[in-house]
Amino acid sequence: MAKTVLVTGASSGIGKATAIYLAQNGYTVYGAARRTEKLKVLKDYHIHPIELDVTKEESIAACVAKIMSETGSLDILINSAGLGSYGALEDVPLTEAKNLMEINLFGAARLIQLVLPEMRKRKYGKIVNISSVGGKIGLPMGCWYHASKFAVEGLSDSLRNEVRQFGIDVIVIEPGGTRSEMTAIGSEDLMRVSGHTVYEKLAKAMTKMYATMEKDAADPLVIAKLIRKSVEAKRPATRYVGGAMAKPMLFLRKVLSDNIFDKMLMSQMK
Ligand code: NDP
Repeated sequence: MAKTVLVTGASSGIGKATAIYLAQNGYTVYGAARRTEKLKVLKDYHIHPIELDVTKEESIAACVAKIMSETGSLDILINSAGLGSYGALEDVPLTEAKNLMEINLFGAARLIQLVLPEMRKRKYGKIVNISSVGGKIGLPMGCWYHASKFAVEGLSDSLRNEVRQFGIDVIVIEPGGTRSEMTAIGSEDLMRVSGHTVYEKLAKAMTKMYATMEKDAADPLVIAKLIRKSVEAKRPATRYVGGAMAKPMLFLRKVLSDNIFDKMLMSQMK
């Protein structure tokens, strides 16, 4: 029988590409996001659009309940909803930081809480958390984004060894630069928050760097294929890496000391 998948963040970027690719490959897919008008196109691929705001408990509970009542099972959860919001730590109001954490961390965690009981009962489940190369590397002006992704990495490592006993796999995806709405939203946000403060120079340098990165960004289908590979693997790896510059960046982060890595990073920001 076709496996049932919930993909969050399905109105755009990686989530949308993944929802479509999995639907084209025989999965029963629910694609969730807030902008329901953007989800309409998914119907052409026989994807069930579903409204979801991951910062709202009622919305999360209603989303999971609807899928359970329609299909009786949810085999795979793909947490792709995310916000790339930037600005110097000193400049970002904590209300904005908390909203980012609600989306990138707590929303994903709450969904996991709600899907686990059924997965445990059936002794089958795949939880796929979209982290980032930024879950291993912290770029300046991105404190909260990186804090959220480092947290997703830690949460996933802990959870993996809690739920393996029930036949549930926890998989982390670490994309590098991938074409989506995220970079434009993030750059705009960065200039709004820190473009006119003492961090202006760094904000401009980072915005320039993001623009360069966007030119080389990978097609989100690359990540969608990686996700399919991960959920179909008999023994999935704990992490899958893909997208522009992802592998070389993670390699350098691993082999270089913090100080050398910082020097290399900051030399790119002139
Ligand atoms: P996009 O900005 O294109 O997509 C983000 C998605 O998240 C949208 O569908 C948006 O839908 C959804 N979303 C945002 N806020 C909420 C919310 N409160 N409730 C429900 N859904 C929400 O970005 P990407 O596709 O690039 O991002 C997907 C994931 O990949 C993110 O976790 C991101 O951090 C990660 N990533 C992306 C990289 C890249 O280069 N693009 C690199 C590394 C990681 P809507 O607004 O309709 O609710």
